[in-house]
Amino acid sequence: MLDLVVIGAGFSGLQAAYSAKQAGLSVAVVEARDRVGGKIWSVPLASERGCAELGGAWINDSLQPRVWKYAQHFGLKVVKQRLEGTAIMQESENERFEFPFGVAPEWSVEEKDNLGLIRDHFQAESLRPGLPSAEVDSLTLDAYVRQLGALPKVIKMVNIWSRVMHGLESTEQSAAWFIDYCRRNKSFLAIRADDSTGGQYLRFQDGAQSIAKELAKIIGPSSIHLSSPVASMNDHGSHVEIVTRNGKRIPARKCIMSVPSTMYKEFKFSPPLPPAVQEVTNGTILGDYNKAIVCYDKPWWRSEGFNGYFASFSGPITLGRDTSVDEKSHYSLTCFVNGAPGREWSKLRPHERRSIVLKQLFQIFDKKPEVFRPIEVFDQIWQHEEFSRGALAPVHALGHLTKYASVYGQPVGNIHFVGTEYSTEWKGYMEGALCSGEKGAQQVIDCLNYIPAKI
Ligand SMILES: Cc1cc2nc3c(=O)[nH]c(=O)nc-3n(C[C@H](O)[C@H](O)[C@H](O)COP(=O)(O)OP(=O)(O)OC[C@H]3O[C@@H](n4cnc5c(N)ncnc54)[C@H](O)[C@@H]3O)c2cc1C
Repeated sequence: MLDLVVIGAGFSGLQAAYSAKQAGLSVAVVEARDRVGGKIWSVPLASERGCAELGGAWINDSLQPRVWKYAQHFGLKVVKQRLEGTAIMQESENERFEFPFGVAPEWSVEEKDNLGLIRDHFQAESLRPGLPSAEVDSLTLDAYVRQLGALPKVIKMVNIWSRVMHGLESTEQSAAWFIDYCRRNKSFLAIRADDSTGGQYLRFQDGAQSIAKELAKIIGPSSIHLSSPVASMNDHGSHVEIVTRNGKRIPARKCIMSVPSTMYKEFKFSPPLPPAVQEVTNGTILGDYNKAIVCYDKPWWRSEGFNGYFASFSGPITLGRDTSVDEKSHYSLTCFVNGAPGREWSKLRPHERRSIVLKQLFQIFDKKPEVFRPIEVFDQIWQHEEFSRGALAPVHALGHLTKYASVYGQPVGNIHFVGTEYSTEWKGYMEGALCSGEKGAQQVIDCLNYIPAKI
């Protein structure tokens, strides 16, 4: 019998399998999709000019040691996020203004001060240790910033943060969840920054999925069962048996589940998960976190002095960035079509979605005709993916972060849980997935080495 079966070949599952294998355990990975990587998916352009990152893309070399170690180990080339140029703020369909990238938008003094106050509040909160209080967990992020005295434009800006960070409206997550996320991820400013101090600093030239593919090679392709969605897990006490939808049965001494907790309800656990675990995981939601990637021959926005970074209070695209690689590859603008507007956009047909994105870019980039001359356009709706059901990571229901802190992510019998959502560092990121995978494997290694004394 195998020592360990891992469900899911995203970053957390692959890391768990790799760490367990390094410790000498026999391991199998069972993955629903026909590929590894989960929410990391680097898709080649039809013109073979590089790839589009439909899922995670950005990393940081100094703040995210695990992902960076792999980048170096596998010899993966990275590209720095471009900082030069003018940013754009779209306040309504026909109102836009330009401002130097990296500084506050040109609002009134009162609004700018108010934005600074709210931003500084979250930064200070995110540097404090521990879990936020149950009281803060009972408030939505929106209600919380209103209590802090946020002005209307700042309330909208907080909603942009919420959409871009979690694919949700600020009315859909608790203030405690938001603050806890910042605490685990090196602070609010580190999450938001595009330079060497933040999470959007570097991208992989040949796609982040390279890490998953390389990890899969080391684990051994014969140990990874692709296109095998797991349907049930039977914990017999002495061992676990997992059963796939196509009837494959894999027994192992331990199981690591790396599927996002929002999806646990789709599995048959026997015996059922404890009521508290069911309540907290059933209560989690996954955001509407979508990308539209518009690829061009030339970085026309750069010659106009634009950075490629923009944010919008109107229209379905909330935020965009320049995600070009180099002249041998392609130039691109990646648009995040998140939160409630992304939810509506995702219901449209592909040509309608494309039209809306291009028309909004046309308005944002001051009606530059080049907008309408892309070489390729991608869009990716993670809510439509049967084996993801949204992104970035499951968000707790109001009050649940503090109420269920002692059970969330804890092993149940022979089943251990990993995933970026459980990470104490860089939760919601690739780094967090690797960190959680490592810890989950260690738990299993510790359990299997433990030989109870015979009385
Ligand atoms: C649009 C987008 C942008 C992002 N941007 C960034 C970024 O810039 N930087 C960054 O670090 N992170 C980013 N992320 C987040 C990052 O992708 C995730 O945090 C990370 O990939 C999560 O890894 P995971 O292993 O926890 O989960 P997942 O990747 O979701 O892995 C779970 C695995 O389980 C499999 N599975 C599901 N159901 C079953 C089943 N029934 N049987 C077997 N297998 C199953 C899935 O197919 C998947 O492979 C982004 C994500 C998205 C979607």
